[in-house]
Amino acid sequence: MYEFAVAPAITNLRRRGAEITEVAPKSLGAELELEPGDRITRVNGRPVRDYLDFRFQTAGETELVVEVRKSSGEDWELQIERGEAEDFGFSFEQIVPRQCANECIFCFCKGNPSDARPSLFVRDEDIRLSFLYGNGDPCVTISTFVFKPPGRRN
Ligand code: SF4
Repeated sequence: MYEFAVAPAITNLRRRGAEITEVAPKSLGAELELEPGDRITRVNGRPVRDYLDFRFQTAGETELVVEVRKSSGEDWELQIERGEAEDFGFSFEQIVPRQCANECIFCFCKGNPSDARPSLFVRDEDIRLSFLYGNGDPCVTISTFVFKPPGRRN
């Protein structure tokens, strides 16, 4: 079962790349000498923020340039050719849900009884969860609000 992190997600958002937590034996990832603790930072020049990015950037690609920050601190650039359906054999760290920074007075999270299960306190605005689990409930943090009267175009 997916365990939601209740700690503010903001602190975990800015680490570069997606961390590998397991590499299946005899897989392409093992052949490439990638290990748990290594972070994939770019695929074909595009940034990888989490494993959803990694899946998206690698899907259907047979020729790849993968940039990796090794757990030792070294940076590797790997030129990879693979079969169309060949999997890397990686497991990745779980995504920490991004949370809403609004303060709506009617917020359903604030209305929870104090002993409600922790996941009910997550102010989820993370569309990635909809892709991964079908359970995302994206709210949208409002940083700037510009009111335009009806009929006025700019
Ligand atoms: S946008 Fe949604 S989660 Fe965020 S404070 Fe408002 S009601 Fe709560």
